[in-house]
Amino acid sequence: MGAGTVKTINYMDSSNFISKSLRQEHLKKISGLRYEDEEKYELQSEIRNLLKKNNALLIAHYYTDPAIQDLALDTDGCVADSLDMAKFGANTESNTLVVCGVKFMGETAKILSPDKTVLMPTLQATCSLDLGCKAEDLQLLKDQHPDREVIVYANTSAEVKSIADWVVTSSIALDVMDRLMSEGKKFIWAPDKHLGNYIQKETGADMIIWDGSCVVHEEFKLEGIMNLKHLHSDALILAHPECPDKVLNISDFVGSTSQILNFAKKTNNLKLIVATDAGIFHQLALQNPNKEFFQAPSSGKGATCISCAYCPWMGMNDLLKLRDVLVNKDNEISLEENILDKAQKSVKRMIDFV
Ligand code: SF4
Repeated sequence: MGAGTVKTINYMDSSNFISKSLRQEHLKKISGLRYEDEEKYELQSEIRNLLKKNNALLIAHYYTDPAIQDLALDTDGCVADSLDMAKFGANTESNTLVVCGVKFMGETAKILSPDKTVLMPTLQATCSLDLGCKAEDLQLLKDQHPDREVIVYANTSAEVKSIADWVVTSSIALDVMDRLMSEGKKFIWAPDKHLGNYIQKETGADMIIWDGSCVVHEEFKLEGIMNLKHLHSDALILAHPECPDKVLNISDFVGSTSQILNFAKKTNNLKLIVATDAGIFHQLALQNPNKEFFQAPSSGKGATCISCAYCPWMGMNDLLKLRDVLVNKDNEISLEENILDKAQKSVKRMIDFV
């Protein structure tokens, strides 16, 4: 079966955008895609053998390099969003997990599987949400509002999770909030302000919202998406809730990466404009060979990036680093015991809720 079609931003005057070759160069730099086909197949085969030898499984996020996603699926690992990545790691018998994604995903795997070895191709891959929410600052806010439940997004450090009452992913945030509101609770929400505002709008919750954002989703702007919609008026717009509210307001569907993938499978509409990290298009196209996907442009008034909508940190995972970590066993996630114990409580609450 073939793959669906993915169209990139070529619908406007090309002078508005950097050329395709420049864009490829940029992607190579940020994603480490330095290999040609032959080298790619050699590396994939080497990694397959190393995974077997080490009784290790590959757990990859939807936003990582397609070559890594293919390898994960091919070797009984998984490609998933952060919630399913964490659950998969906890439920497998393998004693070594190799997490391809960003650091908080490796930490969450360790929190749920403290006795397993958790390796990552790089420990430098972080997240703007994690970077913008320091544990000591959140603790200060918590101390000022002892009457509020602290709910943090999964995209935070283990230390931040250790001072939270709840951890949620975008796929269950609304359901958790509904439940807690029925118990009369008020909240501190951190760190993504767009997701926080979306939850507040949907549920009416009483929330103090942290001022953080995702550098990728923040770049989707109303104007660019509307230009694309005018050219394809029959296309539905699907957006991740980390996008600004102006984008969410005009979207036909708002959901996490896994929810976007499910919606795309179920809908009868054959044209879909998708506003999230461009890594998702690999699975969208594979799972929907009859559909046409358009990458929402990360451009428009106020945008600072007109290039690619690829997370620079997700892009730091590549086959070379993956091979090397399986050989050298460096880049292991380790957490202080008291942080791990406390963070485990809030993360397990999330897992038990699902
Ligand atoms: S895409 Fe955004 S939220 Fe996801 S890891 Fe990158 S910076 Fe963080």
